[in-house]
Amino acid sequence: MPDFRLYNTLTRQVEPFAPADGTTVRMYTCGPTVYNPAHLGNFRTFLFEDLMRRVLALRGWTVHQVMNLTDVDDKIITRAREQGKTISEVTEPVIEVFHRDREYLRIQRAEAYPRATAFIPQMVALVQRLIERGVAYQADDGSVYFAIAKFPAYGRLSRLDTREIKPGARVIQDDYSKENAQDFALWKAAKEEDEITGASWDSPWGRGRPGWHLECSAMAMDLLGDTLDLHCGGIDLIFPHHEDEIAQSEAATGQPFSRVWCHGAFLLTEGAKMAKRVGNVSTVQGLREARFSAAALRHFVFNTHYRKELNLSEEALAASRQAVRRVGDFAERLRSDTTMALGGTPALVQAADEAVAQAEAALFDDLNGPEALAALFEFIRRGNAELDRKGGDRTAVERARAALDRIDGILDIVPDREPADEGLAEWIEEQLAARRAARIARDFAEADRIRHELTSRGVTIEDSAGETHWKLD
Ligand SMILES: [Zn+2]
Repeated sequence: MPDFRLYNTLTRQVEPFAPADGTTVRMYTCGPTVYNPAHLGNFRTFLFEDLMRRVLALRGWTVHQVMNLTDVDDKIITRAREQGKTISEVTEPVIEVFHRDREYLRIQRAEAYPRATAFIPQMVALVQRLIERGVAYQADDGSVYFAIAKFPAYGRLSRLDTREIKPGARVIQDDYSKENAQDFALWKAAKEEDEITGASWDSPWGRGRPGWHLECSAMAMDLLGDTLDLHCGGIDLIFPHHEDEIAQSEAATGQPFSRVWCHGAFLLTEGAKMAKRVGNVSTVQGLREARFSAAALRHFVFNTHYRKELNLSEEALAASRQAVRRVGDFAERLRSDTTMALGGTPALVQAADEAVAQAEAALFDDLNGPEALAALFEFIRRGNAELDRKGGDRTAVERARAALDRIDGILDIVPDREPADEGLAEWIEEQLAARRAARIARDFAEADRIRHELTSRGVTIEDSAGETHWKLD
C-alpha cells in the first residue's frame, strides 16, 4: 500500500497517518450550529471532510465519522425567544435543510449525527469528572469553569504564547478571541430565557446548559472512545474551540484526545465585490437558484488545496462549470455503445493507468485535490485523442471506464444531465428584455452587467440583425 500522509495541526507537519487499530479511522468532525442554513464557508469544510472520508476509504480503511449538530447555543436561544418557540422548534427545520443541502452537494452521510441535547447526561458526567480532578470549579455566578492554569498543555494546538493566557479571568461566551485565553464555561447557569425556550437541564450545580466546547468532547468520547484517530474542522475552530476540547478531554482521561488534527482553510465570500457580482450565493439554496451544480461546486472547492484560502468568484465558478462539462462529456463518451463498438488503443489503457496512479498518489499526499484534478484532465485529453483513433480494443474502453469511475468515486464531479426548465427560459427572456431596455436607454454598463449575469449562469447570447438569441451551454 502506498504511503498516506496528512498535515497535522498539532505538529505543523505533514506526517504518515494510519488508524491506531490498523482498520477503522475514528473521525470526529465539528458540525453546524443549527439556527440558520449553513453558509457555503461551512460547506467548504464539510466538502474537505467528505474528500477526507472518501480518500480514507479508498486507502482501504473503514471510516467511522461522527458529526455533531449543535442544537443548543446562544444564537438558537435568542432566535427561539424572538419567535416564541422552543429551541427544538427552531432547530428541527434547520436540521432538515442541512441534510438536504448536504445531499445536494453529494456529501456522503457520516455514520452518526449526534445532537447536543441528546447527550446532556454524558456532558454532566464529564463536568463532574473535571471537578473531581480539580481542574474545574463553580464560580459565584453559578456557572462551572475550566481552570486553564491547572492544565499545563493549554495552548499547545493553537501555539498560544503563554503571555496571552490569563488564568483566573473568566469568559462565559463560547466564541472568544485569542486575547481572551481565560477560564472558559463548561456548564452555564440557567437564565430566564433558557428556561422559557427549553434550553435548561438539571445538574449537580443547579439548572443550566452545556458550553459549546463541552458538547463536542462529551459526544466524541462517548461515540468514538477516549482517543480519536482524527479530528477535523475549519481553521477558525482551532482557538478556542479545539483548544478547549483538548483541555476538557485530556484533563478528564489523562489520554491524548485526538492523534491527529486537520483543519480546512477559509472560503472567502465576503466583500462588496463578491456580493454584487455573484449575488446571493452564500448558501446552498442560493447556489441552486443560481443553477450552480454540485459537480461544479465540488470541482471549484477541490481545485484549491484544502489548506489554502479560496475566493468564491463568478469567474472561478464559471470555469468550474466549464471544467465539469468536459468531465461529463468524457464520461458520456466512454459509456456510449458507439465508443465500445469502435474500441480503444493500448495507449488509452496506459493513460487510464497513469491517471489512477497519479490521482491516488496526489490524494494520499495530504489530499492534494488540485493535482488529482490535473491527473483527471490529462486523462480526458489523452483519452479523447486515443478514442478518436478507433483502435478496436473493447477491453481498453472498459479499462478507461473503470479508471474514470475510480477517480470520480472520490471527486464526484460528473454533472447531472439537466432537465429542461421552463422557469429558467422565462427568467432568461426577462433578463433579455431588461437588457434591451438598458440599451435603448444607452445604459451600456447595465446591459453589460445583464449579459455577464446570463453568461455566469451558462446562458450564451448572440446579437444578430437586431435580434438576440440565447442558448444554454
Ligand atoms: Zn467541535
